[in-house]
Amino acid sequence: MKLNIQDTFNNELPADKILENSRRQVLDACFSFVEPKKTANPTLVHVSKEMLEAIGLTEEDATYKKFLNVFTGNKIIENTHPYAMCYGGHQFGNWAGQLGDGRAINLTEVVHKSQRWAIQLKGSGETPYSRTADGLAVLRSSVREYLCSEAMFYLGVPTTRALSLSLSGDEVLRDVLYDGNPAHEKGAIVSRLAPSFIRFGNFEILAARKQHLILKQLADYTIKHFYPEVTSEGKQKYLDFLTEVRNRTIDMIVHWQRVGFVHGVMNTDNMSILGLTIDYGPYGWLEAYNFGWTPNTTDNQHKRYRYGNQSQIGLWNLFKLANALYTLIEEVAPLQEILDEYSDIYNKKHHSMMQSKLGLVINDENDKELIGRLEETLQLTETDMTIFFRNLSNISSEDSSETAFKKVEIAFYLLNEIEGDIKNHWEDWFTRYLKRLQQEPLSDQERKQKMDLVNPKYVFRNYMAQLAIDEANKGDYNLIDEFYNLFKNPYSEQPKYEKWFSKRPEWARHKVGCSMLSCSS
Ligand code: AMP
Ligand code: MG
Repeated sequence: MKLNIQDTFNNELPADKILENSRRQVLDACFSFVEPKKTANPTLVHVSKEMLEAIGLTEEDATYKKFLNVFTGNKIIENTHPYAMCYGGHQFGNWAGQLGDGRAINLTEVVHKSQRWAIQLKGSGETPYSRTADGLAVLRSSVREYLCSEAMFYLGVPTTRALSLSLSGDEVLRDVLYDGNPAHEKGAIVSRLAPSFIRFGNFEILAARKQHLILKQLADYTIKHFYPEVTSEGKQKYLDFLTEVRNRTIDMIVHWQRVGFVHGVMNTDNMSILGLTIDYGPYGWLEAYNFGWTPNTTDNQHKRYRYGNQSQIGLWNLFKLANALYTLIEEVAPLQEILDEYSDIYNKKHHSMMQSKLGLVINDENDKELIGRLEETLQLTETDMTIFFRNLSNISSEDSSETAFKKVEIAFYLLNEIEGDIKNHWEDWFTRYLKRLQQEPLSDQERKQKMDLVNPKYVFRNYMAQLAIDEANKGDYNLIDEFYNLFKNPYSEQPKYEKWFSKRPEWARHKVGCSMLSCSS
C-alpha cells in the first residue's frame, strides 16, 4: 500500500502543545495530535473502488489486513501524525463555543494525480473535543454517510467523499429516540475524503478567542491551498476569499434544491469552507414536494433547517463567517456588500436551475410565474418530487393537457385528491407549460435528453437508507452494494433497478429512520 503522503494542515498551522488526549478547551491552536482508538475486531463492510483509485490505491490493496487496520484506526501510517481539528460553531442559531472533531480523526493528506485528499476516520474514538460524548459512531449513521456522500457526488452535488465503511467490532450505546431507552448498536467507522475538512467554525472559534494571528494563518493556509483563484493581496485577499466561499456555498445549496436534499443540521460547524456537503447526519430527501419539510426531529418545532429555508440559512451562516473574518479586514461596508449580493445571485442561479428542470433553454419573462405556480400546485397534494420532474421530460409540446397530466400522474400519492380546485390548478399549469414549450427551439427528444441530466431518476430515498441499515444490522451487505452501484448512474435508466423509482411505501411514512431522524448517531 503506497500513498503519496503530503501533510500540510498539521505542518503549516499551530498545534495544541498539550499531547494528552483529555477533554478540554484547546487554546492557541488549530488542532490537537491524537491517535485513533484501537478497535476490538474490525471488519470491512464496503470499500469504494473509485476512491481507492483516487488516492492511488488498487482494489487489491483493500484486501490486505494493513488496509483494514489503517482505515479503522488500528495502525498509523508511517511518517504521519493523526490529529483532530479545533472548531466552534453556531448551532440552531446560538453560539456553542468550542466543538471540534469530537469523533473524527484526520489521518493524513495524500496527493494523487495533482489532487489533494485529506483522509479522515469518523467514529474512531475520543479526542480533546469529545465533550460529553464517546467519540464513536454506529453502523446506522455510518451506512447513511457512506452511501449518501457517494450518491451526492454522482448526482453532481459538491460533497465530501467516502472510501470505506467498516465495523469496529465494538458495541456502542445510543438512545435513538431520546426517550431514556438506550440500546447497544454495532459500532462502525467510515473513512472519508475531501481536499480539506475545514469548516466555517474553524474560523469562528479563533475570532471568538481573539486569536487574530492564528486566524490569519488559517485564512492564508486555506486560500493558498484551496482558493488558487484568489490572487489579490492585503484586505482585498480576504474579501475575495469570502466572495468565493459565498459563491461555492450558493452553488451547493442550489444543487441541494435541485435534487431535493435536506441537510438537516446546517449549523456553522457543518458548513465546509470549500462549499462541500459535509457531515451527513439526520439529512433526508424530499418525497412530497414540501418546502416546510425537515427530516430532523430535533428541529421539529422551529424547522429552522427545512427544505425551503436552506438558502436563507446559507446566508445566515455566511454572516457568521464574515463576522469571524472581520478582524482581517476591519471594514464593515465591503463585507456587507458581499453578503448583500447573496440573494440576487442565489435567486438567479435557482431560477435557471428550475428552468433546466422544466427543460426551458430560452428565457421568457413569464418563466418566474410559471415556476412559482408549479411550486404552489405541487404542494396542493402530496406529490413525489423525483418522479414528477423525471416524468415531465416525457411530455411532448404537442400533447393535450390531459395527456401531459397522465404522464406524471404516478407521482401523486392520492390521485383521487386531484379534483375540483386542485384539478383546475393542474389543468391551468399544464396549459401554460405546453404553450411555453411551443416557443422552445429544441425538439421533444432533445429537451428530454437535457432534462434527464438534471432530474435524477434515482435518489437515496429515506426508506431505502433504512432498508440497507436493517439488512446491514443483520450482517447482510448486499443492499449497500446494490445502492452503491445504483447511485453511480442516477440519471440513467437502469431497468434492473426500476423498483427504486417508486414512491415511498406506506410502512415508511412514519417510521423512525425513514422520515424521522434524530441527531443520535
Ligand atoms: P454534529 O451535530 O454531528 O455535527 O456534531 C456536533 C459536534 O458534536 C461536533 O463537534 C462533533 O464532533 C461532536 N460529536 C457528535 N457526536 C459525537 C460523539 N459520539 N462523540 C464525540 N463527539 C461527538
Ligand atoms: Mg458536525
